[in-house]
Amino acid sequence: MQSFLRALIPTLLAAVSAGCLGMDRAGSLPKKTAIRSQSLHVLTDNRLAKDHELLVDLNRLKTEVTHQLELPDAQQQVVVYLFGDEKRYRDYLAKEYPTLPPRRAYFVGTSKELAVYTYWGDRIQEDLRHEYTHGVLHAALKEVPLWLDEGLAEYYELKGPPGQVNREYVARLGQQLSQGWAPSIERLETLLTVDQMRREDYREAWAWVHFMLHSSDATRDVLLAYLRDLRTEAQPVLLSARLRNEVPGIEARFASYVGSLGSVPVALSAAK
Ligand SMILES: [Zn+2]
Repeated sequence: MQSFLRALIPTLLAAVSAGCLGMDRAGSLPKKTAIRSQSLHVLTDNRLAKDHELLVDLNRLKTEVTHQLELPDAQQQVVVYLFGDEKRYRDYLAKEYPTLPPRRAYFVGTSKELAVYTYWGDRIQEDLRHEYTHGVLHAALKEVPLWLDEGLAEYYELKGPPGQVNREYVARLGQQLSQGWAPSIERLETLLTVDQMRREDYREAWAWVHFMLHSSDATRDVLLAYLRDLRTEAQPVLLSARLRNEVPGIEARFASYVGSLGSVPVALSAAK
């Protein structure tokens, strides 16, 4: 569920892997190519047809992300390493990235490779969609602020056309608002490392993305202009400042929008 910016390359080869001695594949990457294109290369342990629904879905997702966010053509291929089971995946990560906390999937972006690591589990589609979204963003943009990176990945991980509503998030955010919670993009913008991102920050990031893309043309235009600047600048004018300039009373509008998500049919909020 996490992404790593290019500057945060984890230490390699600390070799703390244990309990896998004698297994000649332990710690190795999947090697069977399931699909390979200019933008996506999926390597698996077990054979996977190139027209498998998961792969078709990833290609569709890339088209949707690129179209909706008006991203330029990808400059880099995203490589997905899909391990056959959880143990293989965990062994590999323990060997290569011993300091990473356990997660079902990771996106690791370095100057050499944009890589997704995950395994064949119950939530494979959601995990692949989430991590591949990170990959699509990093393949097209110079930089992506952490909170926005995660907000967009949460937004696109939901199966179906863009704009799906995460009902659990909406319920929890509504509860927070009723208890006096004050949402703040400025606060999210101060989160710079993945270990600073708590579960509630993912929820809030998802909601700001949904709000910007679907509440009005003005908010969507602010996000798209910001993403355009991220093609060439690592640190353009902050998104929070742009929103404040263009949309008066942003927090009140956000709160009202989140409230409306809890009371309208999903199809309506996904219409835009
Ligand atoms: Zn993530």
